[in-house]
Amino acid sequence: MIVFRRLLCVAGLHSGPWLLSDGRCESVRVCTACGKTDKIVRHTWGGFVYVDAGRCGQVRRCERCATTQSRTWHAWGPWRYANTEFGAPQIHRCRRCHETEKTAYTLR
Ligand SMILES: [Zn+2]
Ligand SMILES: [Zn+2]
Ligand SMILES: [Zn+2]
Repeated sequence: MIVFRRLLCVAGLHSGPWLLSDGRCESVRVCTACGKTDKIVRHTWGGFVYVDAGRCGQVRRCERCATTQSRTWHAWGPWRYANTEFGAPQIHRCRRCHETEKTAYTLR
């Protein structure tokens, strides 16, 4: 039986329970067959919230270990044509920070 389990280990299928470390989001498992330690990190993320008015930086925080993660999340308005010329690029503007983004050319 132990031979079979070692074969599973070779295939990367280790056995043993995952134990959660206190106050952190790491789960650790020590394989009962070969002694290999595996670690996974799984955070309990809250929702993203904007940090500053008029900016698009958002932060979310792990409810368990307080690790934070940030991203940029624009509130883009609808695409509009930049001008009335044929093949004009389209532009949209962020409602929060007023940054604009435009297409290289129009697909139509
Ligand atoms: Zn193993
Ligand atoms: Zn965490
Ligand atoms: Zn923005």
